[in-house]
Amino acid sequence: MIFLTPGPSKLHPLYPDFMKQAADRHIGSISHRSKEFEKIFQAAVESVRALLGAPADTHVFFLGSATEAMERIVQNCCARKSFHFVNGAFSERFFEIAKELGRDAAAYTSSPGEGFPFSAVSIPPDAELICLTHNETSTGVMIDSADIIRLKEQNPGKLLAVDIVSSAPYPLLSYNHVDAAFFSVQKSFGLPAGLGVLLVNDACLEKAAEISRTGQSIGSYHNFASLLSFAKKNQTPETPNVLGIFLLAKVCEELLRIGIETLRKQTDERAQRLYSFVESHAAMKPFVSIKALRSTTVVTIEVPDAKIFMDRLARLNVQVGLGYGAFKDKHLRVANFCTHTAADIQAFITAGSDR
Ligand SMILES: *Cc1c(COP(=O)(O)O)cnc(C)c1O
Repeated sequence: MIFLTPGPSKLHPLYPDFMKQAADRHIGSISHRSKEFEKIFQAAVESVRALLGAPADTHVFFLGSATEAMERIVQNCCARKSFHFVNGAFSERFFEIAKELGRDAAAYTSSPGEGFPFSAVSIPPDAELICLTHNETSTGVMIDSADIIRLKEQNPGKLLAVDIVSSAPYPLLSYNHVDAAFFSVQKSFGLPAGLGVLLVNDACLEKAAEISRTGQSIGSYHNFASLLSFAKKNQTPETPNVLGIFLLAKVCEELLRIGIETLRKQTDERAQRLYSFVESHAAMKPFVSIKALRSTTVVTIEVPDAKIFMDRLARLNVQVGLGYGAFKDKHLRVANFCTHTAADIQAFITAGSDR
């Protein structure tokens, strides 16, 4: 079965080798306070930074999931007011978390499948944190990196957090303009779920310290202060997902060997192949009408009956995602992650072809 699902998705082709190495090295048994773990932690942090092009002073924290990262960002980067760009289920989740944590959260909401008129959106002057989803996995809308830079330039006094869960390591993010970014490993990194990765700069740490000084909670299980003090020793506050961190370092090293430029080019080529197939198919159409907003990593396709298509594809050993939420019956979502190959995409095209 070829998993073209938007996460969990296809595992990295070397996953069995990495698991064998993990077993041979007793990764499941070593202490998370040992030198051996510290080396694994450091290797993972350095390769994540290198792959994403983040500066050497970017802090990398390991969490339980990307959803946890949303909660930690709200707790540590915003005392009172956050602002959210919402255009689907995942950006909505970020917004909901801020409200549940008692923040005075505001949002600009676009319809599913749409982007944002960034220059026309008025962000409250007292908002401390702006939250944006680079790739809205529920609908297949990808925000242009240039818009993210402009957003920060127009709001220099606010922290900017970007969800890169279903696009990392693809986006060419400028870490001079992004204060916090996060992803989880079951999407483009081709690993089993259970590890979230959060990158933050010093401005986020200063904000967390400032909130903490006022007596407001920045989180108990994980907060930026405790994560930082352990990260300085290449450790984590709790017993972490050591296996997940080990596997992440291995996958990042593989991806770095291929090179991020090559990975981006290959992603673009496969995406182009997918969209031109969809556009030429009598019963399929890209859900996102504006070409510049069409995701290269989660291609969302409008079909008359998603279930029929999905079953037909599954019989031919191709597993795709159904639409998200209200779009369950009308959309197929096809992932185009780093682990996917031109042959995987071709398998979808062959199985889905109407000729
Ligand atoms: C999958 C996904 C999440 C949630 O990731 P978890 O690891 O399940 O917490 C958040 N944001 C986006 C854009 C996603 O695609």
